[in-house]
Amino acid sequence: MIEDRSKFDEIVKACPILFGGKDSYYCECCLGWFKPLKTLFVAMEAHLKTLDPEVYDSDSDRRLVAQVKEKYGGLRCYMNWEDETMEQLINKAEEECIKTCEICGEPGKPGDRGWIQTLCDKHTKKKTK
Ligand SMILES: [Zn+2]
Repeated sequence: MIEDRSKFDEIVKACPILFGGKDSYYCECCLGWFKPLKTLFVAMEAHLKTLDPEVYDSDSDRRLVAQVKEKYGGLRCYMNWEDETMEQLINKAEEECIKTCEICGEPGKPGDRGWIQTLCDKHTKKKTK
């Protein structure tokens, strides 16, 4: 699916610690999840600001976020470094995404056959036709 992923740059710009100012190629899910993802990363960034940079090794130029993707209809967020607080924030975002249409952000549920993607009724119908 072709869509405007540049919207994810908004998150990257708002979270320099997490993404190290890199562009948004890390993010492999659709824009329907933009809101839960933004909530997640802004909360993690705010948490990181309260920590000593030595804890998460800010000197290295690696991003703290390794990869963000969709798997079996749910969000998967792989981190190069995380602590317990961030783990909880990720769990919360995963719970949110599993009931959110990945395409439009409306309430949805994971499909049960073929390509399992979390979609609303409208997009499920489109897909199965
Ligand atoms: Zn939808």
